Amino acid sequence: MIQEATNPQAAIPSVDKMLRAPLLADALEAHGRPAVTDAVRTVLASLRRGLMAGEPVETEDAAIAARISAVLAALAQPSLVRVFNLTGTVLHTNLGRAPLPQAAIQAMVAAAGACNLEYDLDKGARGDRDSHLEPLLQRLTGAEAVTVVNNNAAAVLLVLNALAQDRSVLVSRGELIEIGGAFRIPDIMARAGCRLHEVGTTNRTHLRDFAGGIGEDTALLMKVHASNYEIQGFTAAPAEADLAKLAHENDLPFVVDLGSGALADLAEYGLPHERTPAETLADGADVVTFSGDKLLGGPQAGLIVGRKDLIDKIRKNPMKRAMRLDKVTIAALEAIFRLYADPDKLPERLPTIGLLARPAAEIAAVAQRVLPAVARALEGIAWTETVSCRSQIGSGSLPVDLLESTALSIRPLKEGRGAGGVVTKIAEAFRALPAPVIGRVQDGAFLLDLRCLEDEAAFTAQLGKIDLS
Ligand SMILES: *Cc1c(COP(=O)(O)O)cnc(C)c1O
Repeated sequence: MIQEATNPQAAIPSVDKMLRAPLLADALEAHGRPAVTDAVRTVLASLRRGLMAGEPVETEDAAIAARISAVLAALAQPSLVRVFNLTGTVLHTNLGRAPLPQAAIQAMVAAAGACNLEYDLDKGARGDRDSHLEPLLQRLTGAEAVTVVNNNAAAVLLVLNALAQDRSVLVSRGELIEIGGAFRIPDIMARAGCRLHEVGTTNRTHLRDFAGGIGEDTALLMKVHASNYEIQGFTAAPAEADLAKLAHENDLPFVVDLGSGALADLAEYGLPHERTPAETLADGADVVTFSGDKLLGGPQAGLIVGRKDLIDKIRKNPMKRAMRLDKVTIAALEAIFRLYADPDKLPERLPTIGLLARPAAEIAAVAQRVLPAVARALEGIAWTETVSCRSQIGSGSLPVDLLESTALSIRPLKEGRGAGGVVTKIAEAFRALPAPVIGRVQDGAFLLDLRCLEDEAAFTAQLGKIDLS
Protein backbone atom coordinates (compact mmCIF):
# COMPACT_ATOMS: atom_id res chain seq x y z
CA MET A 1 0.00 0.00 0.00
CA ILE A 2 1.44 3.37 -1.01
CA GLN A 3 0.22 6.02 1.40
CA GLU A 4 -0.68 9.46 0.08
CA ALA A 5 0.66 12.27 2.23
CA THR A 6 -2.75 13.60 3.26
CA ASN A 7 -2.40 12.80 6.96
CA PRO A 8 1.19 11.65 7.17
CA GLN A 9 1.52 10.90 10.87
CA ALA A 10 -1.60 8.70 11.02
CA ALA A 11 -0.08 6.14 8.69
CA ILE A 12 2.96 5.53 10.88
CA PRO A 13 2.68 2.94 13.66
CA SER A 14 3.87 3.87 17.16
CA VAL A 15 7.22 2.71 18.52
CA ASP A 16 5.38 0.57 21.10
CA LYS A 17 3.25 -1.09 18.48
CA MET A 18 6.30 -2.01 16.45
CA LEU A 19 8.12 -3.36 19.51
CA ARG A 20 5.13 -5.62 20.30
CA ALA A 21 4.83 -6.82 16.70
CA PRO A 22 5.57 -10.56 16.38
CA LEU A 23 7.56 -9.60 13.28
CA LEU A 24 10.28 -8.15 15.51
CA ALA A 25 10.34 -10.93 18.14
CA ASP A 26 13.42 -12.56 16.61
CA ALA A 27 15.19 -9.21 16.33
CA LEU A 28 14.50 -8.50 20.02
CA GLU A 29 15.96 -11.87 20.97
CA ALA A 30 19.08 -11.37 18.81
CA HIS A 31 19.88 -7.70 19.40
CA GLY A 32 18.24 -6.78 22.73
CA ARG A 33 15.57 -4.21 23.50
CA PRO A 34 17.68 -1.00 23.56
CA ALA A 35 19.18 -1.61 20.11
CA VAL A 36 15.83 -2.61 18.58
CA THR A 37 14.12 0.46 20.12
CA ASP A 38 16.80 2.71 18.61
CA ALA A 39 16.42 1.07 15.20
CA VAL A 40 12.60 1.38 15.35
CA ARG A 41 12.91 5.09 16.17
CA THR A 42 15.43 5.64 13.37
CA VAL A 43 13.26 3.90 10.76
CA LEU A 44 9.98 5.54 11.89
CA ALA A 45 11.62 8.99 11.86
CA SER A 46 12.86 8.43 8.34
CA LEU A 47 9.36 7.30 7.24
CA ARG A 48 7.87 10.41 8.78
CA ARG A 49 10.36 12.59 6.93
CA GLY A 50 9.54 10.80 3.69
CA LEU A 51 5.78 11.30 4.14
CA MET A 52 6.19 14.97 5.05
CA ALA A 53 8.21 15.45 1.89
CA GLY A 54 5.38 13.89 -0.08
CA GLU A 55 7.41 10.86 -1.14
CA PRO A 56 5.67 7.54 -1.64
CA VAL A 57 6.39 5.47 1.48
CA GLU A 58 5.57 1.87 2.38
CA THR A 59 3.85 1.85 5.75
CA GLU A 60 2.83 -1.81 6.16
CA ASP A 61 4.18 -3.37 9.33
CA ALA A 62 6.03 -6.03 7.35
CA ALA A 63 7.83 -3.47 5.20
CA ILE A 64 8.75 -1.39 8.23
CA ALA A 65 9.95 -4.47 10.12
CA ALA A 66 12.15 -5.42 7.16
CA ARG A 67 13.77 -1.99 7.19
CA ILE A 68 14.31 -2.23 10.96
CA SER A 69 15.92 -5.66 10.57
CA ALA A 70 18.21 -4.29 7.86
CA VAL A 71 19.32 -1.44 10.13
CA LEU A 72 20.00 -3.92 12.96
CA ALA A 73 21.90 -6.30 10.70
CA ALA A 74 24.13 -3.47 9.49
CA LEU A 75 24.84 -2.39 13.08
CA ALA A 76 25.66 -5.97 14.09
CA GLN A 77 28.42 -6.29 11.48
CA PRO A 78 31.79 -6.48 13.23
CA SER A 79 34.03 -3.55 12.45
CA LEU A 80 37.21 -5.62 12.51
CA VAL A 81 37.05 -8.32 9.83
CA ARG A 82 39.38 -10.71 8.07
CA VAL A 83 40.69 -9.35 4.77
CA PHE A 84 42.75 -10.76 1.92
CA ASN A 85 45.99 -8.78 1.83
CA LEU A 86 46.84 -8.84 -1.87
CA THR A 87 48.60 -5.48 -1.76
CA GLY A 88 52.02 -7.02 -2.29
CA THR A 89 53.24 -5.69 1.05
CA VAL A 90 53.55 -8.70 3.33
CA LEU A 91 53.88 -6.85 6.66
CA HIS A 92 51.26 -4.18 5.98
CA THR A 93 50.83 -1.97 9.05
CA ASN A 94 47.30 -0.92 8.02
CA LEU A 95 46.32 -4.57 7.58
CA GLY A 96 47.59 -5.79 10.93
CA ARG A 97 51.22 -6.61 10.02
CA ALA A 98 52.21 -10.22 10.74
CA PRO A 99 49.54 -12.92 10.32
CA LEU A 100 49.80 -15.19 13.37
CA PRO A 101 50.62 -18.90 13.23
CA GLN A 102 48.15 -21.56 14.34
CA ALA A 103 50.35 -22.37 17.35
CA ALA A 104 49.98 -18.78 18.57
CA ILE A 105 46.24 -18.68 17.96
CA GLN A 106 45.77 -21.86 20.01
CA ALA A 107 47.92 -20.47 22.82
CA MET A 108 45.91 -17.23 22.80
CA VAL A 109 42.65 -19.14 23.14
CA ALA A 110 44.07 -21.22 26.00
CA ALA A 111 45.23 -18.09 27.87
CA ALA A 112 42.00 -16.16 27.28
CA GLY A 113 40.38 -17.36 30.50
CA ALA A 114 42.05 -17.49 33.91
CA CYS A 115 45.73 -18.35 33.52
CA ASN A 116 48.98 -18.26 35.53
CA LEU A 117 49.98 -14.87 34.07
CA GLU A 118 51.60 -13.61 37.27
CA TYR A 119 51.30 -16.70 39.38
CA ASP A 120 54.05 -19.17 40.25
CA LEU A 121 52.37 -22.57 40.10
CA ASP A 122 55.22 -24.32 42.00
CA LYS A 123 55.27 -21.94 44.93
CA GLY A 124 51.61 -20.99 44.89
CA ALA A 125 52.69 -17.38 45.09
CA ARG A 126 52.88 -14.25 43.01
CA GLY A 127 54.97 -14.59 39.85
CA ASP A 128 56.18 -12.34 37.04
CA ARG A 129 54.62 -11.95 33.62
CA ASP A 130 58.00 -11.60 31.90
CA SER A 131 58.96 -15.05 33.22
CA HIS A 132 57.00 -16.83 30.46
CA LEU A 133 59.16 -15.25 27.78
CA GLU A 134 62.53 -14.57 29.37
CA PRO A 135 64.14 -18.03 29.18
CA LEU A 136 63.04 -18.54 25.56
CA LEU A 137 64.25 -15.14 24.40
CA GLN A 138 67.50 -15.53 26.35
CA ARG A 139 68.16 -18.69 24.36
CA LEU A 140 67.26 -17.04 21.03
CA THR A 141 69.28 -13.85 21.54
CA GLY A 142 71.97 -14.72 24.07
CA ALA A 143 70.75 -11.85 26.28
CA GLU A 144 71.27 -11.88 30.05
CA ALA A 145 67.78 -10.52 30.67
CA VAL A 146 64.57 -9.70 28.85
CA THR A 147 61.51 -7.54 29.34
CA VAL A 148 58.52 -6.91 27.08
CA VAL A 149 56.10 -4.03 26.42
CA ASN A 150 53.28 -3.14 24.04
CA ASN A 151 55.25 -2.20 20.95
CA ASN A 152 58.72 -1.15 19.92
CA ALA A 153 57.85 2.57 20.08
CA ALA A 154 56.99 2.02 23.75
CA ALA A 155 60.18 0.03 24.22
CA VAL A 156 62.32 2.90 22.90
CA LEU A 157 60.46 5.47 25.01
CA LEU A 158 60.82 3.33 28.13
CA VAL A 159 64.50 2.51 27.61
CA LEU A 160 65.36 6.19 27.05
CA ASN A 161 63.39 7.35 30.07
CA ALA A 162 64.79 4.63 32.34
CA LEU A 163 68.42 5.05 31.29
CA ALA A 164 68.77 8.68 30.20
CA GLN A 165 66.19 10.96 31.80
CA ASP A 166 67.49 14.55 32.17
CA ARG A 167 70.70 13.62 30.37
CA SER A 168 71.76 13.54 26.77
CA VAL A 169 71.73 10.74 24.21
CA LEU A 170 74.18 10.67 21.32
CA VAL A 171 72.62 9.73 17.96
CA SER A 172 73.97 10.09 14.42
CA ARG A 173 72.23 12.77 12.29
CA GLY A 174 71.69 10.07 9.67
CA GLU A 175 69.46 8.14 12.08
CA LEU A 176 66.99 10.82 13.19
CA ILE A 177 64.25 8.95 11.46
CA GLU A 178 60.51 9.11 11.23
CA ILE A 179 58.61 5.83 10.99
CA GLY A 180 55.00 5.72 9.85
CA GLY A 181 52.43 6.74 12.44
CA ALA A 182 54.29 9.73 13.89
CA PHE A 183 57.17 7.89 15.54
CA ARG A 184 60.04 10.37 15.26
CA ILE A 185 63.23 9.86 17.16
CA PRO A 186 63.60 13.55 18.20
CA ASP A 187 60.01 13.64 19.53
CA ILE A 188 60.39 10.35 21.40
CA MET A 189 63.61 11.68 22.98
CA ALA A 190 61.82 14.81 24.17
CA ARG A 191 58.90 12.81 25.61
CA ALA A 192 61.31 10.46 27.34
CA GLY A 193 62.84 13.50 29.05
CA CYS A 194 66.21 13.17 27.31
CA ARG A 195 68.29 15.68 25.45
CA LEU A 196 69.04 14.66 21.89
CA HIS A 197 72.67 15.24 21.05
CA GLU A 198 73.10 14.91 17.29
CA VAL A 199 76.52 13.95 15.99
CA GLY A 200 77.98 13.68 12.48
CA THR A 201 76.12 14.59 9.31
CA THR A 202 73.16 13.18 7.41
CA ASN A 203 75.24 10.99 5.11
CA ARG A 204 78.49 10.50 7.04
CA THR A 205 79.06 9.99 10.71
CA HIS A 206 82.37 8.72 12.08
CA LEU A 207 83.43 7.18 15.34
CA ARG A 208 85.34 10.38 16.15
CA ASP A 209 82.05 12.34 15.94
CA PHE A 210 80.66 10.17 18.73
CA ALA A 211 83.91 10.37 20.69
CA GLY A 212 83.91 14.17 20.42
CA GLY A 213 80.25 14.33 21.51
CA ILE A 214 80.71 12.49 24.80
CA GLY A 215 80.47 14.87 27.72
CA GLU A 216 79.60 15.17 31.41
CA ASP A 217 75.86 14.71 30.91
CA THR A 218 75.98 11.92 28.31
CA ALA A 219 73.77 9.03 29.41
CA LEU A 220 74.21 6.66 26.51
CA LEU A 221 75.13 6.13 22.86
CA MET A 222 72.32 5.08 20.59
CA LYS A 223 71.99 3.52 17.17
CA VAL A 224 68.65 3.49 15.33
CA HIS A 225 68.06 1.11 12.46
CA ALA A 226 67.18 3.23 9.41
CA SER A 227 64.30 0.81 8.58
CA ASN A 228 62.30 2.53 5.88
CA TYR A 229 64.95 4.32 3.86
CA GLU A 230 68.51 3.90 2.78
CA ILE A 231 71.21 6.49 2.32
CA GLN A 232 73.27 5.61 -0.74
CA GLY A 233 76.44 7.00 -2.23
CA PHE A 234 79.04 8.84 -0.16
CA THR A 235 78.12 7.46 3.23
CA ALA A 236 79.77 6.32 6.43
CA ALA A 237 78.59 5.02 9.76
CA PRO A 238 80.70 3.53 12.52
CA ALA A 239 80.42 -0.21 13.05
CA GLU A 240 78.27 -1.27 15.98
CA ALA A 241 81.20 -3.07 17.55
CA ASP A 242 83.28 0.14 17.48
CA LEU A 243 80.44 2.20 18.98
CA ALA A 244 80.02 -0.38 21.72
CA LYS A 245 83.74 -0.27 22.47
CA LEU A 246 83.72 3.53 22.61
CA ALA A 247 80.67 3.53 24.91
CA HIS A 248 82.24 0.98 27.25
CA GLU A 249 85.57 2.87 27.40
CA ASN A 250 83.51 5.78 28.73
CA ASP A 251 81.42 3.61 31.08
CA LEU A 252 78.29 4.30 29.05
CA PRO A 253 75.69 1.87 27.75
CA PHE A 254 75.23 1.36 24.02
CA VAL A 255 71.55 1.04 23.04
CA VAL A 256 70.33 -0.17 19.65
CA ASP A 257 66.79 0.24 18.29
CA LEU A 258 66.80 -2.57 15.74
CA GLY A 259 63.28 -1.93 14.48
CA SER A 260 62.38 -5.22 12.88
CA GLY A 261 65.00 -7.51 14.29
CA ALA A 262 64.62 -10.94 12.72
CA LEU A 263 65.08 -13.77 15.22
CA ALA A 264 66.35 -16.20 12.58
CA ASP A 265 68.91 -15.74 9.81
CA LEU A 266 66.67 -14.84 6.87
CA ALA A 267 69.41 -15.82 4.42
CA GLU A 268 68.56 -19.44 5.35
CA TYR A 269 65.25 -18.93 3.53
CA GLY A 270 66.70 -17.23 0.47
CA LEU A 271 65.89 -13.76 1.80
CA PRO A 272 68.30 -10.88 2.34
CA HIS A 273 69.97 -11.09 5.73
CA GLU A 274 68.55 -8.78 8.40
CA ARG A 275 70.58 -8.10 11.53
CA THR A 276 69.43 -10.19 14.46
CA PRO A 277 69.32 -9.14 18.12
CA ALA A 278 71.80 -11.95 18.81
CA GLU A 279 74.36 -10.44 16.40
CA THR A 280 73.81 -6.96 17.80
CA LEU A 281 74.31 -8.16 21.38
CA ALA A 282 77.37 -10.15 20.32
CA ASP A 283 78.80 -6.95 18.84
CA GLY A 284 78.59 -5.37 22.28
CA ALA A 285 75.19 -3.65 22.45
CA ASP A 286 73.98 -3.42 26.05
CA VAL A 287 70.28 -3.03 25.29
CA VAL A 288 68.47 -3.91 22.05
CA THR A 289 64.82 -3.19 21.24
CA PHE A 290 62.72 -4.65 18.41
CA SER A 291 59.13 -5.22 17.29
CA GLY A 292 57.03 -8.34 17.79
CA ASP A 293 54.93 -7.94 14.65
CA LYS A 294 57.50 -7.18 11.98
CA LEU A 295 59.95 -9.82 10.71
CA LEU A 296 59.58 -11.76 13.94
CA GLY A 297 56.10 -12.68 12.70
CA GLY A 298 54.22 -12.30 15.98
CA PRO A 299 51.70 -10.05 17.70
CA GLN A 300 52.23 -6.33 18.37
CA ALA A 301 54.89 -6.13 21.08
CA GLY A 302 58.14 -4.41 21.95
CA LEU A 303 60.98 -6.66 23.06
CA ILE A 304 63.83 -5.35 25.17
CA VAL A 305 66.88 -7.58 25.64
CA GLY A 306 70.28 -6.98 27.15
CA ARG A 307 72.41 -6.57 30.26
CA LYS A 308 70.73 -7.64 33.48
CA ASP A 309 71.47 -4.51 35.54
CA LEU A 310 70.03 -2.28 32.80
CA ILE A 311 66.97 -4.47 32.19
CA ASP A 312 66.30 -4.46 35.95
CA LYS A 313 66.38 -0.67 35.90
CA ILE A 314 64.02 -0.61 32.91
CA ARG A 315 61.64 -3.03 34.65
CA LYS A 316 61.47 -0.86 37.77
CA ASN A 317 60.55 2.27 35.80
CA PRO A 318 56.90 3.21 36.50
CA MET A 319 56.25 3.58 32.76
CA LYS A 320 56.82 -0.17 32.37
CA ARG A 321 53.58 -0.76 34.28
CA ALA A 322 51.73 1.54 31.89
CA MET A 323 53.08 -0.34 28.86
CA ARG A 324 52.88 -3.92 30.06
CA LEU A 325 51.78 -6.70 27.74
CA ASP A 326 48.46 -8.47 27.93
CA LYS A 327 48.19 -12.22 28.70
CA VAL A 328 46.90 -13.11 25.24
CA THR A 329 49.87 -11.41 23.57
CA ILE A 330 52.31 -13.10 25.95
CA ALA A 331 50.73 -16.45 25.10
CA ALA A 332 51.19 -15.80 21.37
CA LEU A 333 54.81 -14.71 21.80
CA GLU A 334 55.66 -17.75 23.89
CA ALA A 335 54.26 -20.08 21.22
CA ILE A 336 56.16 -18.26 18.48
CA PHE A 337 59.48 -18.27 20.36
CA ARG A 338 59.06 -22.05 20.67
CA LEU A 339 58.68 -22.29 16.88
CA TYR A 340 62.04 -20.55 16.48
CA ALA A 341 63.69 -23.46 18.28
CA ASP A 342 63.41 -25.35 14.96
CA PRO A 343 64.42 -22.85 12.25
CA ASP A 344 64.16 -25.43 9.42
CA LYS A 345 60.42 -25.75 9.97
CA LEU A 346 59.73 -22.00 10.20
CA PRO A 347 58.61 -21.53 6.57
CA GLU A 348 55.81 -24.06 7.07
CA ARG A 349 54.93 -23.04 10.63
CA LEU A 350 55.32 -19.26 10.75
CA PRO A 351 53.24 -17.43 8.11
CA THR A 352 55.51 -14.36 7.93
CA ILE A 353 58.55 -16.43 6.97
CA GLY A 354 56.44 -18.76 4.82
CA LEU A 355 54.97 -15.88 2.81
CA LEU A 356 58.26 -14.00 2.46
CA ALA A 357 60.08 -17.15 1.35
CA ARG A 358 57.23 -18.42 -0.85
CA PRO A 359 58.77 -19.67 -4.10
CA ALA A 360 57.95 -17.53 -7.17
CA ALA A 361 56.83 -20.67 -9.05
CA GLU A 362 54.30 -21.48 -6.34
CA ILE A 363 52.81 -17.97 -6.54
CA ALA A 364 52.65 -18.23 -10.32
CA ALA A 365 50.73 -21.50 -9.93
CA VAL A 366 48.24 -19.80 -7.56
CA ALA A 367 47.74 -17.13 -10.24
CA GLN A 368 46.97 -19.74 -12.91
CA ARG A 369 44.45 -21.44 -10.63
CA VAL A 370 42.49 -18.33 -9.60
CA LEU A 371 42.68 -16.46 -12.92
CA PRO A 372 39.60 -18.07 -14.55
CA ALA A 373 37.31 -17.30 -11.59
CA VAL A 374 38.41 -13.65 -11.43
CA ALA A 375 38.15 -13.25 -15.21
CA ARG A 376 34.62 -14.68 -15.13
CA ALA A 377 33.54 -12.36 -12.31
CA LEU A 378 34.65 -9.33 -14.35
CA GLU A 379 33.51 -10.54 -17.78
CA GLY A 380 32.35 -7.69 -19.99
CA ILE A 381 33.91 -5.10 -17.67
CA ALA A 382 37.59 -5.81 -17.41
CA TRP A 383 40.35 -7.91 -18.89
CA THR A 384 42.20 -10.06 -16.37
CA GLU A 385 45.67 -11.50 -16.95
CA THR A 386 48.65 -12.64 -14.92
CA VAL A 387 51.69 -10.37 -14.73
CA SER A 388 54.97 -10.70 -12.90
CA CYS A 389 55.47 -8.14 -10.15
CA ARG A 390 57.50 -7.55 -7.03
CA SER A 391 56.24 -7.76 -3.48
CA GLN A 392 57.82 -5.95 -0.60
CA ILE A 393 58.41 -6.99 2.96
CA GLY A 394 56.82 -3.89 4.48
CA SER A 395 56.89 -2.24 7.89
CA GLY A 396 60.14 -0.56 7.02
CA SER A 397 62.03 -3.82 6.76
CA LEU A 398 64.70 -4.09 4.09
CA PRO A 399 63.09 -1.37 1.95
CA VAL A 400 65.22 -1.85 -1.13
CA ASP A 401 64.76 -5.58 -1.46
CA LEU A 402 61.79 -6.62 -3.57
CA LEU A 403 60.60 -10.19 -3.90
CA GLU A 404 59.68 -11.76 -7.23
CA SER A 405 55.95 -12.49 -7.40
CA THR A 406 52.89 -12.81 -9.67
CA ALA A 407 49.79 -10.64 -9.73
CA LEU A 408 46.44 -10.64 -11.47
CA SER A 409 46.20 -7.42 -13.47
CA ILE A 410 42.63 -6.27 -13.97
CA ARG A 411 42.22 -3.66 -16.69
CA PRO A 412 38.93 -2.04 -17.83
CA LEU A 413 37.83 -3.04 -21.35
CA LYS A 414 36.86 0.55 -22.05
CA GLU A 415 39.99 2.59 -22.62
CA GLY A 416 40.59 6.31 -22.52
CA ARG A 417 38.49 8.76 -20.51
CA GLY A 418 36.56 7.17 -17.67
CA ALA A 419 38.79 4.07 -17.49
CA GLY A 420 40.39 5.37 -14.27
CA GLY A 421 36.94 5.63 -12.70
CA VAL A 422 36.25 2.01 -13.61
CA VAL A 423 39.51 0.88 -11.98
CA THR A 424 38.51 2.72 -8.79
CA LYS A 425 35.08 1.05 -8.94
CA ILE A 426 36.65 -2.39 -9.35
CA ALA A 427 38.90 -1.76 -6.33
CA GLU A 428 35.82 -0.68 -4.35
CA ALA A 429 33.86 -3.76 -5.40
CA PHE A 430 36.67 -6.06 -4.16
CA ARG A 431 36.78 -4.13 -0.87
CA ALA A 432 33.02 -4.54 -0.47
CA LEU A 433 33.16 -8.37 -0.51
CA PRO A 434 32.27 -10.26 2.72
CA ALA A 435 36.01 -10.90 3.24
CA PRO A 436 37.32 -7.70 1.65
CA VAL A 437 40.09 -8.11 -0.93
CA ILE A 438 42.67 -5.32 -0.83
CA GLY A 439 44.86 -4.83 -3.88
CA ARG A 440 46.62 -1.84 -5.37
CA VAL A 441 46.04 0.42 -8.35
CA GLN A 442 49.07 0.80 -10.58
CA ASP A 443 49.46 2.14 -14.13
CA GLY A 444 45.74 2.11 -14.82
CA ALA A 445 45.17 -1.46 -13.61
CA PHE A 446 43.94 -3.04 -10.40
CA LEU A 447 46.64 -5.46 -9.22
CA LEU A 448 46.18 -8.42 -6.90
CA ASP A 449 49.61 -9.69 -5.80
CA LEU A 450 49.04 -13.34 -4.96
CA ARG A 451 52.04 -13.87 -2.66
CA CYS A 452 49.80 -13.76 0.42
CA LEU A 453 46.83 -15.68 -1.01
CA GLU A 454 46.61 -18.96 0.86
CA ASP A 455 42.90 -19.73 1.16
CA GLU A 456 42.14 -19.86 -2.55
CA ALA A 457 38.76 -21.57 -2.01
CA ALA A 458 37.47 -18.79 0.26
CA PHE A 459 38.81 -16.18 -2.16
CA THR A 460 37.12 -17.58 -5.27
CA ALA A 461 33.91 -18.62 -3.47
CA GLN A 462 32.94 -15.00 -2.87
CA LEU A 463 33.82 -13.63 -6.32
CA GLY A 464 30.21 -14.14 -7.51
CA LYS A 465 29.22 -11.37 -5.11
CA ILE A 466 31.28 -8.75 -6.94
CA ASP A 467 28.83 -5.98 -7.71
CA LEU A 468 29.80 -3.45 -10.37
CA SER A 469 26.33 -2.16 -11.14
C1 LIG B 1 59.03 -0.04 13.42
C2 LIG B 1 60.05 0.64 14.18
C3 LIG B 1 59.75 1.23 15.43
C4 LIG B 1 58.38 1.18 16.00
O1 LIG B 1 58.02 -0.14 16.32
P1 LIG B 1 56.49 -0.53 16.62
O2 LIG B 1 56.56 -1.94 17.07
O3 LIG B 1 55.76 -0.32 15.35
O4 LIG B 1 56.01 0.38 17.69
C5 LIG B 1 60.76 1.85 16.10
N1 LIG B 1 62.01 1.92 15.60
C6 LIG B 1 62.34 1.39 14.40
C7 LIG B 1 63.73 1.52 13.91
C8 LIG B 1 61.36 0.72 13.65
O5 LIG B 1 61.68 0.18 12.47
